Amino acid sequence: MSQCKNCLRGGSNVSLDSIGVCAHCSMLVFENIDLHRREIGHFIELVDDGQSVSSTLRACREATKQAVRLVEYEIKGIPTGDPAASEIINHCEGVKERVLEETLDTIVKNGLTLSEAAGTPEMKKRAIRFALLQLSLFYDENNISEQNSEHEEKLSEAILAINNSIT
Ligand SMILES: [Zn+2]
Repeated sequence: MSQCKNCLRGGSNVSLDSIGVCAHCSMLVFENIDLHRREIGHFIELVDDGQSVSSTLRACREATKQAVRLVEYEIKGIPTGDPAASEIINHCEGVKERVLEETLDTIVKNGLTLSEAAGTPEMKKRAIRFALLQLSLFYDENNISEQNSEHEEKLSEAILAINNSIT
C-alpha cells in the first residue's frame, strides 16, 4: 500500500508523485519548500554579508527558523534540496558563535583599555562597570539567556585588582 509522506493518507486510490507525496499535497509541499528555500537564500546572504552584529545575528535566527521548517519535511522523508537543512543550521550556529565571541571579546578588551588609561581608581572602575553594562545590554538585545560568565569574570577580576591596588 502506498502512503503520502506528507499527509499519511494511503490506499489503492492514492497516487503518489516522484517524491512520494499525494496529488492533494504535491503543490502545497512544493510551494512551501520553494518559499523556505528562497527565504533561506535571502537570509544566508545577510548572514555571510556580516553588515553589523545585530543584523548578522537576526539573519542567523531567521535562516535557522526557515531551515527548521525544512527539517519537518526531511523528517517525513521528503527531499528538500541542497544544502540539507541541518547544514544550514550548522552554518548559522557557527557564524553566530564566532560573532558572539568576537563581540564579547571586543567589549571586554575596550573596557580594560579604557580602564588602564583612566587617571584615578574610581575612573578605572567606572570604565569596567561600563563594559559590564554593555555586556548585559548585548545579552538582552540578542536574547542570550546563557550568559558567558568568562567575560564578566575577566571584568570583575579587573575591579578586584583595582580595589587591591588602592589598599
Ligand atoms: Zn498527502
